[in-house]
Amino acid sequence: MKDIARFIAGFERFQAKYFHDERGLFSRLSRGQQPRALVISCCDARVDPAMLTGADPGDLFVVRNVANLVPPYRDESEAPGVRSAIEFAVKTLEVEHIIVLGHTSCGGIAALMAGEGITEHKYEFIGPWVSIAKRAREKVLRELPQKPPELQARACEQAAILVSLDNLLSFPWIRERIDSNALELHGWHFDIDSGDLLAYSAETATFEPLVSGTATEAGANT
Ligand SMILES: [Zn+2]
Repeated sequence: MKDIARFIAGFERFQAKYFHDERGLFSRLSRGQQPRALVISCCDARVDPAMLTGADPGDLFVVRNVANLVPPYRDESEAPGVRSAIEFAVKTLEVEHIIVLGHTSCGGIAALMAGEGITEHKYEFIGPWVSIAKRAREKVLRELPQKPPELQARACEQAAILVSLDNLLSFPWIRERIDSNALELHGWHFDIDSGDLLAYSAETATFEPLVSGTATEAGANT
């Protein structure tokens, strides 16, 4: 694996340029973090929450897992890593936003749609993990039975984001903070092909573009 040299050279550039230019920021960060948002995103190499949101170090507290899933507060799924990260972000860091960030062409959701969560014949861990969102799969198969697999996958990616938002509400101390307007939940879906970012609107019960311009227009302006 020769590529590691690329990453080391990249770190050298980071240290020489970014770290050097941002000495004040890192000096402040060395004394503690105060991120205002928790992002729950997929492990997928193509979806980097900090890059997508133009965030600086210290801005985002990030949990990454296969298919950006949140288990419910209490159930049989073993996910102490995810739950403890959420607990720390909410109780100690007191983040004001939790963003569940999904994306198109999600391999985890593809595994869920393929039934890996049910048959568990291929993966040891992915099947049981993605089955956290089995409700999303069932909904898609019920409502869009005749649609092409790509469309079903996209619908399942978005439905799984809603399952995770719903599961976040099952944490009593999250529910409390939402009720007192100290915390807001957001469901976002990034389209890797078009560059668009959609956000779930409770008003219309659909995912809508988060910014008015399209990726193509933005590119044309530069
Ligand atoms: Zn994914």
